[in-house]
Amino acid sequence: MTVTARRGTELRCRNWRAEALLRLLENVLEVGERPEELVVYASIGKAVKDWDAYRRIVYALQHLREDQTLVLQTGRPVAVLNTHTAAPMVVSAVNNTVGNWATEERFYSRLAEHKTIWGGLTAAAWQYIGRQGVLGGTYELLRAALEKHFREPAAPHRWVLTAGLGGMGSSQPISARMLELSTLVVEADPAKLAKLRAAGGIDLVIDDLDGALATISAAITERRPVAVGLLGNAADVFPAVVASGARPDVVTDQTAAHDARYGYLPSGYTLESWAEARETDPEKVERDARASMAAQVRAMLALGQRGSVVFENGNNLRVQASHVLGEAERQRVFAEIPGFMEGYLRPLFSRGIGPFRWLILSGDDNDLTVVDDLAATMFPERPEIARWIDLARHHIPAQGLPARSCWLGYGERSALALAVNEAVADGRISAPVAFSRDHLDAAGMTHPRIGTEGMRDDSDGVTDWPILDAMLLASGGADLVAVHSGGGGYSGWMQSAGVTVVADGTEAAATRIRQALDLDSGLGVIRHATAGYEDALDAVQRSHEPGAHGAPLNLIRN
Ligand code: NAD
Repeated sequence: MTVTARRGTELRCRNWRAEALLRLLENVLEVGERPEELVVYASIGKAVKDWDAYRRIVYALQHLREDQTLVLQTGRPVAVLNTHTAAPMVVSAVNNTVGNWATEERFYSRLAEHKTIWGGLTAAAWQYIGRQGVLGGTYELLRAALEKHFREPAAPHRWVLTAGLGGMGSSQPISARMLELSTLVVEADPAKLAKLRAAGGIDLVIDDLDGALATISAAITERRPVAVGLLGNAADVFPAVVASGARPDVVTDQTAAHDARYGYLPSGYTLESWAEARETDPEKVERDARASMAAQVRAMLALGQRGSVVFENGNNLRVQASHVLGEAERQRVFAEIPGFMEGYLRPLFSRGIGPFRWLILSGDDNDLTVVDDLAATMFPERPEIARWIDLARHHIPAQGLPARSCWLGYGERSALALAVNEAVADGRISAPVAFSRDHLDAAGMTHPRIGTEGMRDDSDGVTDWPILDAMLLASGGADLVAVHSGGGGYSGWMQSAGVTVVADGTEAAATRIRQALDLDSGLGVIRHATAGYEDALDAVQRSHEPGAHGAPLNLIRN
């Protein structure tokens, strides 16, 4: 079955709130990596449990009244309950498991028995928008890294070595190009290379390292950024780069390393023998994948010693490699390869600035233009927003419903969504617009090796914040609230909350927007202020100044 998101202004549901969520469910399958298996991204991140659950969810959404709430449990519908018109239309919890039971072994055996799924962050919450969802983050990350380490940050004579061109990883060469950087990205699957080449995300595909390095070197001499896709295994190519004597300016990775069974091709395997071995001897696959990751990580350490800026880009590579590293090497890995959040993005999260996004439910590009224009003009005090919108318009290939990811902060999100709600009401926009975000946001995420590594108050593994976030989002009347956890290599490692709010042009939507979006990013600021981050304390103070976006934040100091 092929699913594409419905476009246009005609409703199949009883109201736009449910129709919007149905279109978002369809959209994650339209842009997903293996939609026939309901897999959206990150190797096994699924939209719903199975096709039966899909059909029952569609039916429930089509009949859902605004005073009812559809309850989803790990990707299947379990009830439609009577609530009230200010309550969420959908609440969802995926794979949340008590600590001692949240192990990889239990997860995989329950997965094999079709008793659970991994919902990724945005897959089962129907908030995924294709590679653009992470593109803004990758851009912000590279920008912050360049600003921190180089005097002339965006420069056509610098290059990035990385790997992985999957759902998220394919954002890497595109965001590097936005910063005038060249990229050498290693990918093991020729189909992924061909797909991104066809979308214009890489300039060429090469299958030998010498040729790839020569192309990069020529581009740097000519100060003309190039994006090279190299067919190969990162576990082999990264050490070969070390041996070649080359020194990339930035080194990272975005294979699906978080999942040693399904996400990282071990060295010496073909894609076919990998698939077969996963069936016959999955434990050996995991051991081999971790040994390969260790080889890649050792090469990253060597490149760091050589002067490259090295960091992990949110895929748990260091943790997986650590399973086979000795204690001394393990300590070096965490000391010398920082996580992307602690290293670069926390100052933004402290101000509630994070991966916000909008989806145009009509499917009409003109509607996207109206929202983009509003975002580009409403915040002159932060010119980087207009610059990002301009870059995104020019560089990001379309996928699915027209959408934009844009890093907005506390108060900015609700201000924009309220302006859009007015534009829906007065007809400047032809149909409602959905607002959402990645779960990896200031309040929504706890993952001590990804979102919350090295928190100043040692709260790296504390899941109170995403839980508080979900409670506030539901009380604020968000249209969809989701709480996700674990799965594969993330078992026992993460808890996240996700939100979607629909601007349908009504007064009720304006109230939901104001409440839910401010509560969400406001809690993110409070979390960081509580942990002692000065940027967050400043943001709290600024929220009380006249003309500030968003409601004043009333922090209680302890
Ligand atoms: P994906 O499964 O869609 O793609 C992974 C890609 O890596 C595939 O194309 C695969 O062929 C390739 N690959 C696997 N092993 C390889 C190897 N040894 N050498 C070369 N290529 C190899 O996954 P995705 O959606 O792109 O996500 C990638 C990772 O990023 C995941 O771990 C995910 O959890 C993480 N992630 C991070 C962020 C963030 O904010 N930084 C956001 C979302 C996802």
